[in-house]
Amino acid sequence: MKIARFSHQDVLRYGIVDDGELVVLEADPMFAGFETTGERVPLHDVALLAPVIPRSKVVCIGKNYHDHAAEMGGEAPAEPLMFLKPNTSVIGPGDAIVRPTTLSSQTDFEGELAVVIGRIAKNVPAERALDYVFGYTVANDVTARDLQRTDGQWSRAKGFDTFCPVGPVIETDLDLAAASITTRVNGEVRQNGPVSDMIHDVPALIAYASSVFTLLPGDLILTGTPAGVGPFAAGDEIEVEIDGIGTLRNTARDA
Ligand code: MG
Repeated sequence: MKIARFSHQDVLRYGIVDDGELVVLEADPMFAGFETTGERVPLHDVALLAPVIPRSKVVCIGKNYHDHAAEMGGEAPAEPLMFLKPNTSVIGPGDAIVRPTTLSSQTDFEGELAVVIGRIAKNVPAERALDYVFGYTVANDVTARDLQRTDGQWSRAKGFDTFCPVGPVIETDLDLAAASITTRVNGEVRQNGPVSDMIHDVPALIAYASSVFTLLPGDLILTGTPAGVGPFAAGDEIEVEIDGIGTLRNTARDA
């Protein structure tokens, strides 16, 4: 089931994608379930929004694919390398990624699978971790690469407004063993790798993150990027596609 959050006639709503239409939901399904209003709206009449705005945090995992750790010039760490993006960095499909050009001269894309947490999670063992997942969406862990190198920690490099595009929908039934990530810049493939190449898998990441933070419904876990990251410029169109979820498309501009 694919869940969208959308704007239609200036009202923000949730819906289930069904054959080119949205079956409108009464409220946010993460909190209110899947009761429908009885209305159907054509998909081409709506603007899709970020399918979730995290209430508290975006948890991110660095260097969770061996080939990406190698291209960054090192080994993958033995334990998940965890950092946060503020929820103010989240934007939706079609929104502009704004390059902070007065502070940074290199803004990179990182296509990633994002886990959407559905229930309050604290100290969840890996064996039960998937019970806490609402679904999965696509994310771009946009990074000011020069600031990441110079700052020593990554709050600025990863945290600018617009640095966390997510969407276009939440898929509640993704087959993690079959999914792969493809990132294109202006139509040219730059990243392509199976999600199953992840070093620490989704249950392990939920267990690890929830041993530190209480995860709230709507929190996101960005699970790391495969090899092929690189910079983009103003005017570039960046697409991150995960088969089974969809394509997240954003265009960049300069501040
Ligand atoms: Mg990343």
